[in-house]
Amino acid sequence: MSTDIPDSHPRKVSLEMRERLVHGWEQKVVATAGLFAHGRGEAFDYILGEQTHAAADSAIEAAAAALLLADKPVISVNGNVAALTAKECVDAGRAASAQLEINLFYRCLEREKAIEQVLLAAGAKTVYGVGEDADSRVPGLESERGKVDSRGIFHADVVFLALEDGDRTEQLVRMGKKVIAVDLNPFSRTAQFADITIIDNIVRVFPLLIEKIEKLKTKDKTAVWKIVDLYNNKKTVGEVIKAVRLKLADMEKKGIFMEVPKE
Ligand code: ATP
Repeated sequence: MSTDIPDSHPRKVSLEMRERLVHGWEQKVVATAGLFAHGRGEAFDYILGEQTHAAADSAIEAAAAALLLADKPVISVNGNVAALTAKECVDAGRAASAQLEINLFYRCLEREKAIEQVLLAAGAKTVYGVGEDADSRVPGLESERGKVDSRGIFHADVVFLALEDGDRTEQLVRMGKKVIAVDLNPFSRTAQFADITIIDNIVRVFPLLIEKIEKLKTKDKTAVWKIVDLYNNKKTVGEVIKAVRLKLADMEKKGIFMEVPKE
């Protein structure tokens, strides 16, 4: 890390995330566009109060259940996910017996290898989707963007995505996969297309996801199925949009002008 951010800094967690992404960018793990994508997420996180809302919590529970019930679950990893949550990603894969696959919007071997190294260093045993291993295609997506691993996403029944773009999410849903997406933007096409949309920051999602997977492992399968069956994604996304609307209305009503105390 290049800067030491004091504990007292009110934006410490957010600034540390930026530092991790800049570090990832320097290591060619994060694409330049990934830094902008993070900025869009940050803006929504700010409005959402940088906390996990009840709706996101129930989406995470449904995601944990869906991953546990899957025959071939895959966690899709891009540069931002690797830079922010490599260890948690590996731990979630292990907890859910899911494969990890590198799946990039801007594919290039150098970056695939750099991300693979980060995941291996975080404890991953196998990483799909590197180089020639991305030997299959998602129909409807042109060239590099459509490449996936036949052992991974191509044949997966449940795919966990984070910070994904709408086109690819839509095509995976069209392929008949159950798509779990993490996206702080409740208005994005990804958030609208996914079967389970977790509107929360990936850094808060993984620890909760792992906790819920472990808890659900102790329940019988009927109870786990019930969670998936009763889950309503439209309602979840709607609840987060309502939270955004209420927060903005409250700010407008109260005014949020801060006074700087005089010396
Ligand atoms: P779409 O095509 O789905 O409408 P988009 O064009 O916004 O979405 P991208 O530019 O690929 O797609 O953006 C990725 C998404 O990731 C953004 O919507 C952003 O809110 C979200 N995001 C960024 N950082 C995080 C994070 N740390 N945790 C969760 N979501 C994030």
